[in-house]
Amino acid sequence: MSVLSRRSLLAGSAAATLAAGAAPAAAAAPAAGTATPGVYRYRIGTFELTALYDGIWYRPITDKFIPNASFSEVEHALDAAFMPHDRLATPFTTLIVNTGQKLVLLDTGTGGQIAPSAGVLRDNLAAAGIDPKAVDAIVISHFHPDHINGIKDKDNELIFPNAEIMVPGPEWAYWMDDANLNAAPAELKLTFRNQRRIFTDIARQVTQFEPGKDVAPGILTLPAPGHTPGHTVFAIHSGDQSLMVLSDTAQHPAVFARHPDWQAAFDIDGAAAVATRKRLFDRAAADRMLVTGYHFPFPACGHLVKTASGYEHVPVEWQPKL
Ligand SMILES: [Zn+2]
Repeated sequence: MSVLSRRSLLAGSAAATLAAGAAPAAAAAPAAGTATPGVYRYRIGTFELTALYDGIWYRPITDKFIPNASFSEVEHALDAAFMPHDRLATPFTTLIVNTGQKLVLLDTGTGGQIAPSAGVLRDNLAAAGIDPKAVDAIVISHFHPDHINGIKDKDNELIFPNAEIMVPGPEWAYWMDDANLNAAPAELKLTFRNQRRIFTDIARQVTQFEPGKDVAPGILTLPAPGHTPGHTVFAIHSGDQSLMVLSDTAQHPAVFARHPDWQAAFDIDGAAAVATRKRLFDRAAADRMLVTGYHFPFPACGHLVKTASGYEHVPVEWQPKL
């Protein structure tokens, strides 16, 4: 890592002259010591969308992280993204869609149960002026803990008590099947058990949908299998505008958009995950669609540009007014 010295920064007479003319700072304000709320609001047609940050997890990774690439290639990609070699930056951004008729939450964050550096969704809901009791529906993309744990708090109480919970039928069928649980490796069994902790006592409040159907006017679900068998993405349409919600089609774009062929160890079917990623990314790039990804850096929305070897994510510009 390079360290900038005052001397190297001030090399050159113009900079030296500028520095000589600068007045000394007189401020002695105490440091705030906390981050600001992670809330980003935008519009799709008449719908008002609120991206809510739940925080970040640095997922430990090993040299087996990408089974179909050498670890030296992976290290090269991590270097290019300014990431360490032993952890994958995994931010979490949920999305609330106000259709004018309904308040719909897409995925629920970690519920403060994944990493100490995540679990700030409720603080950000408050900062955004959204009462969890006002959420009409929760729509889940897939059953990994970072997407469903925020249905409940640590004490097993519902965080959004009035929301209907809508889940992809194929996802429920796969994960709630005890034969699949029994056949799973030990680490994956934890995922199956977590799903039972979340869903068993609220099963009657859960509605299954078939990907391909609308879950609300203007919110279309689309099958996107691979990451998990029932993994689902969402197309939001209002007026002449649309947004594709990519869920976990790719994790951090600096790694997986740039290397769309990489199969992650945590994908249930790596080849299907790659096929789904390329299909959706090609479509988004060709149609210049606005997209958002659950693990893209906050505020998580932007565009995808096709490059010679993959895709590049171009973040949106922050807009202070809607
Ligand atoms: Zn995820």
